[in-house]
Amino acid sequence: MNCTKCAGKMVERKGTTPEGFEYKYSKCTKCDEEIVNMKQLHSVAQKYREMKKYTAKISKWGESFAVRIPKELVKQYELKQNEDVTLIPEKKGIKIVA
Ligand SMILES: [Zn+2]
Repeated sequence: MNCTKCAGKMVERKGTTPEGFEYKYSKCTKCDEEIVNMKQLHSVAQKYREMKKYTAKISKWGESFAVRIPKELVKQYELKQNEDVTLIPEKKGIKIVA
């Protein structure tokens, strides 16, 4: 596959979405043009579809807010009652690490 802009050689590179999914794209070695082809696009769209999303409501608990963790996640991460977890503030949200 050659670059559509300069006909230079394209090489496949790996990128990571903000959600942490790896995807592949092609980059021109000559002009740095980046292209994601249909196959590459399909692959990352598939990963998004497979990603399970959970929603939870925030409730007030004294002066703090509490989030209910769905039982599927409690099972999956083997969370226990009264267990201490670490909350890591990130750009797009709060990460809970058990
Ligand atoms: Zn190019």
